[in-house]
Amino acid sequence: MKPLVVAVVGAGPSGIYAAEALIQQSEIPINVAVIDKLPVPFGLVRYGVAPDHPSIRSIRNTLERTLEREDVRFFGNVAIGRDLSVEELRGATDAVIYAYGAASDRHLGVTGEELTGSIAAPDLVAWYCGNPDVHPETSIHDQQQHNPVEELITRTREAVVVGAGNVALDVVRVLIKNNDELDDTDMADEVLAVLADKSVTDVHLLARRGPAYTAFTTKELRELGKLTDVDLVLEPADFELNEVDRAVVAADKVAARNLAAMEDWLQREPSGASRRIHLHFWTRPTKINSSDDPAAVGAVEIERTRLNGEGRLESAGDLPAIEAQLVVRSVGYRGTALDGVPYDEGTGRVPHAAGHVLRDGTFSPDEYVTGWIKRGPTGVIGTNKSDAVETVQALLHDVADEALSAGHSIDELTDLLAARGVTPLGMADWHRIDAAEVSRGQGHGRDRTTIAHRSELLAAAADDQ
Ligand SMILES: Cc1cc2nc3c(=O)[nH]c(=O)nc-3n(C[C@H](O)[C@H](O)[C@H](O)COP(=O)(O)OP(=O)(O)OC[C@H]3O[C@@H](n4cnc5c(N)ncnc54)[C@H](O)[C@@H]3O)c2cc1C
Repeated sequence: MKPLVVAVVGAGPSGIYAAEALIQQSEIPINVAVIDKLPVPFGLVRYGVAPDHPSIRSIRNTLERTLEREDVRFFGNVAIGRDLSVEELRGATDAVIYAYGAASDRHLGVTGEELTGSIAAPDLVAWYCGNPDVHPETSIHDQQQHNPVEELITRTREAVVVGAGNVALDVVRVLIKNNDELDDTDMADEVLAVLADKSVTDVHLLARRGPAYTAFTTKELRELGKLTDVDLVLEPADFELNEVDRAVVAADKVAARNLAAMEDWLQREPSGASRRIHLHFWTRPTKINSSDDPAAVGAVEIERTRLNGEGRLESAGDLPAIEAQLVVRSVGYRGTALDGVPYDEGTGRVPHAAGHVLRDGTFSPDEYVTGWIKRGPTGVIGTNKSDAVETVQALLHDVADEALSAGHSIDELTDLLAARGVTPLGMADWHRIDAAEVSRGQGHGRDRTTIAHRSELLAAAADDQ
């Protein structure tokens, strides 16, 4: 029986879990091409999960095993929409699964958001994780180009992080931690050098709801309380709960544990630490003001919030502004449109029914979707596994119903790319990059040092030594 050729766009967890689900069944022979625009696989597991959380980042070892399978081929450094159009990909394969994530961000919608010093968490995260898309190459004049984030971080003393999720906590930790606390991570050398130069003393986290409504994972929240030479500053009035707050806590174990952790911090005496994390609840930004430099952030105007009778947030009056040179909005990732793929502007997702893509409300015969671009930026890495299984089941049902059948060979894709002059990177290339990163790290007493520049990644992939 001729194998079905399935292209998966995106080698993040959802794309790799989809590949795994496709090859784990034995009824239908399937060849899977997992395509990523980056030279290396693993998506946000490499370029999102915090570098100081090595055990979570090590999930890539499990993901790697799927990409090593004989019936799965990794096509790195191939951008769909640039190197190949979606139409061309569909023409060369039997089915396509979109798993290209949700890499964009949401805005706060306040005046001053465009000032230098006001940035989105995805941009900061991509920088500190060493994503080659935000680490510019050396210019033709042989000058090292820099991401503007680097200059910002070095001149920041006080930072505001807007948002009350785990990504906001990651950003707070990276900004406040001492360099020697980040030294044993796999951060790129140039990232560590910038972080070593920073002189951040205060990070303010703004949460528009109260301490009974947090979406943090308790383990991540508790980490803030274990940082050395850092005091946690909380406002006792925020912890006076009303009946509604208490009902929320009673119904939600995570919220209750988070609240307990923070109530514990409230009892602590300030130790006179050299750095502070301020947790501001029932607070949201209303405006970002400039500094002496009219183009740069100088302060954030904030207001107190409260829930009205209908459960909606409303203003409860202005609060004193916070001086800050850096504002990081961490209010959610968002999917973007990929040329040729249906997209719902309202939700930032690809429209689908149980993973089967809908074009103008009807099933497209050969298109499926999984991961963040399917359900939005929610859940943990493992959530992408059940999500991918649902999508693959939809595809397998279509094969069983003869709505989808094998007609292509995986060589068609390889030939098409070759005709375009595109040379994809495979798993052997990844192993050479992996070895180069491990070797760089060990040279400095670390397990690994991420290579952040595309040209260096490609050079490491090509290095046969
Ligand atoms: C900052 C941050 C920290 C996180 N920390 C944790 C954590 O500690 N624990 C946890 O469980 N979860 C964490 N998550 C969530 C987890 O990373 C996501 O659930 C998961 O990565 C989503 O998988 P995905 O495959 O849908 O998207 P992604 O991981 O984003 O993968 C999408 C892939 O598609 C590729 N791509 C995009 N466009 C194209 C194109 N046109 N052509 C080819 N390829 C393309 C991208 O390069 C990328 O590799 C974190 C997320 C973020 C943002």
